Amino acid sequence: MVNATGVWVDELRRQDAEAMHREVRPMVAPSQGVHAVVDREFLPGNHALMVPKTADGRVLFGVPWMGKLILGTTDTPRGDLPREPRPFREELDLILAEAGRYLVRAPRREDIRSLWVGLRPLVKPVGEDGESTKSLSREHTVLVSRSGLVTVTGGKWTTYRAMAEDVLEKCFDARLVARRAAGVTADLQLVGAPPAGAMPTSLSAAPGLHLYGTEAAEVASLPGGDRHLGGGLTVAMVRFAARHEYARTVEDVLARRFRLLFLDAALASSLSAEVGELLRQETGVDPQAAAFRELASSYLRMPV
Ligand SMILES: Cc1cc2nc3c(=O)[nH]c(=O)nc-3n(C[C@H](O)[C@H](O)[C@H](O)COP(=O)(O)OP(=O)(O)OC[C@H]3O[C@@H](n4cnc5c(N)ncnc54)[C@H](O)[C@@H]3O)c2cc1C
Repeated sequence: MVNATGVWVDELRRQDAEAMHREVRPMVAPSQGVHAVVDREFLPGNHALMVPKTADGRVLFGVPWMGKLILGTTDTPRGDLPREPRPFREELDLILAEAGRYLVRAPRREDIRSLWVGLRPLVKPVGEDGESTKSLSREHTVLVSRSGLVTVTGGKWTTYRAMAEDVLEKCFDARLVARRAAGVTADLQLVGAPPAGAMPTSLSAAPGLHLYGTEAAEVASLPGGDRHLGGGLTVAMVRFAARHEYARTVEDVLARRFRLLFLDAALASSLSAEVGELLRQETGVDPQAAAFRELASSYLRMPV
């Protein structure tokens, strides 16, 4: 069994060890990072901004993303592991104050379209707890417990394929799988990826059909291809998410398939009823629109 639960890996490791009447030391030192999204007018042009050393020695960036600008980030130790962490006031104050020194004008709280937070699973050295502690790279760690629980954490989005390959290698070494898998992912294209050599999709352009790559024509051909809901989303895109991308809830569509929650939480909230109705037609299940509106309101709640 593979434990890939991010900052929550230690809880499963603890349960696994308890069943073997053993103890484990936590391997993750969670670190909170905050992102504030504002309109593109704050940094016109095609370049990102990187401040390698802010007034208090941190790194700050401003990256054009899907027609908006992401400002971030922070690096705050956080041990309480909430499912939906919210920023601390000092974190937001720091981002706004530093960004204000470089952007066209200083962003204020009321300029923020979406405010979101993640917890990084940073790995700290594991002591003598009886497990193999060999780190497979500087970015992620794979551990195999005595019972055979394989834990992988500490990686990046951008290294997920290398992480998966290392997990399989570890499984083979520990005789948890019978055959060593050939690494096939290095050249494997994602669904919708343009053919090798073609120009990649610009991620700074506002969201729209271009995000679907080679699947764009199929998306556009579904009913409602020319009915725009707002923020680049069409009725056909919602239908595509339900029919081909396993979307069941409004959150699946507006946060995970189409990133509107992270770009403009108020707009995402205003589309929730219509998106929910389309999902209900497509799937027949409760799309949980009210729960999404509650979530979206928290992306607009500023720390006091
Ligand atoms: C602020 C910030 C900025 C970042 N910037 C970058 C970047 O620029 N580039 C980059 O490559 N990476 C970046 N990362 C890193 C990247 O987001 C994470 O390292 C990566 O998401 C970790 O992937 P994961 O699969 O290990 O964990 P996660 O993505 O956290 O996934 C763990 C999953 O396990 C689920 N889960 C938890 N407990 C259980 C359970 N008991 N049973 C079943 N499921 C469970 C959770 O719901 C979650 O879906 C950033 C991270 C943060 C926080």
